[in-house]
Amino acid sequence: MEIKRIGVVGAGQMGNGIAHVMALAGYEVLLNDISEEALSHALAQVTKNLDRQVSREKISEEDKKASLARIGTTLTLTDLGKTDLVIEAATERETVKQAIFEDLVPHLQPHTILTSNTSSISITRLASRTDRPEKFMGFHFMNPVPVMQLVELIRGIATDEPTYKACLAVVESIGKTAASAEDFPAFIVNRILIPMINEAVYTLYEGVGSVQSIDQSMRLGANHPMGPLELADFIGLDTCLAIMNVLHDGLADTKYRPCPLLVKYVEAGWLGRKTQRGFYDYRGDTPVPTR
Ligand code: NAD
Repeated sequence: MEIKRIGVVGAGQMGNGIAHVMALAGYEVLLNDISEEALSHALAQVTKNLDRQVSREKISEEDKKASLARIGTTLTLTDLGKTDLVIEAATERETVKQAIFEDLVPHLQPHTILTSNTSSISITRLASRTDRPEKFMGFHFMNPVPVMQLVELIRGIATDEPTYKACLAVVESIGKTAASAEDFPAFIVNRILIPMINEAVYTLYEGVGSVQSIDQSMRLGANHPMGPLELADFIGLDTCLAIMNVLHDGLADTKYRPCPLLVKYVEAGWLGRKTQRGFYDYRGDTPVPTR
C-alpha cells in the first residue's frame, strides 16, 4: 500500500517535528490541533528548523519552500479522514488519545493506518478502542524529531504484517532507522533510559552526589553526551515521572518506584527547561544547579 498523505494529530514539540520530517521527505501532511495558537507556533517552529538546515547547507531553499507548501493545518480532526496514515502525537493522556481515535474512526478510509507516538501507553489497549486493531501500531519518534535517528515501531497484539511493513517503509523513506519493539510498558528506549534517570535522582536524594557531580560522572565516566539530570530537564520532569508511573503500574515491580525527590520537583512545577527550572535553573545566562 502506498502512503502519500499523512495526518498528524497534535502540533506540540513532537507533532511539529513529525510534520517537518514527513514534508521534507515528500509526503503531503495535514497537521491538526485543538489550539489555533499551537498550529501557528508549529508552523513557525518548522520554518525556523528548516531555515537552520538551509543555513547548514543540508537542504536547499527550494526544498524548504516545497516542504512548507506540503504542510496544511486544520482545527477539524475529521479532515484527517482522507489521509493514508495518521500519527497521533497529542498530549500523553490515555483519555485524550482514546477520544481522538473514537472521533476519527468513522471518517477514515478503510485502508488508513492508525499510529500513536505515545511514549508509554499500551498500543494494544489504544488499538482495541478502534475499528482496526490490525492496522494500528506505535510509531515512536525521539525528541528532537528532525535530529534523532531512531523510530521505535511497536506492534500491538493484533498488528498485521502489511501494517508493520508499510510503517517500516515510511521510516526508511525519511532516512531514519527503525527498531522493532514489543508492546510492553515504555517499550525499549524509555524502559532503559527513564529508570536510569530515576536512579540518578535517587543518587541526588540520598546525598551520594550533587547535581553537578552526578552529571559530570556520567558524562566523563560513562561517555554519555549529557548527564542524566540535564537530560531529565530536557525531557521534562513531568514526562519522566509519568513514564516511571507507567512502568511501576504496568510491571508491578518496586524497582520502578519513582524517586520522592522527582515527585517533589514536579509538585513544585519545576519541570525542567520548559518551565526554566528543574535540576538546573535556566533563568540566567548559564544553567545553575538547584541542589
Ligand atoms: P506537547 O504538549 O508539546 O504537545 C501536545 C499537543 O497536543 C498540544 O499542542 C495540544 O494542544 C495538542 N492536543 C491536546 N489534545 C488534543 C486533541 N484532542 N486533538 C488535537 N490536539 C490535541 O507534547 P509532546 O511533547 O509533543 O508529546 C506529544 C506525544 O509525543 C505524547 O504522546 C508524548 O508521550 C510523545 N512523545 C514525547 C516525547 C518528548 O520528548 N516530548 C518524545 C517521544 C514521544
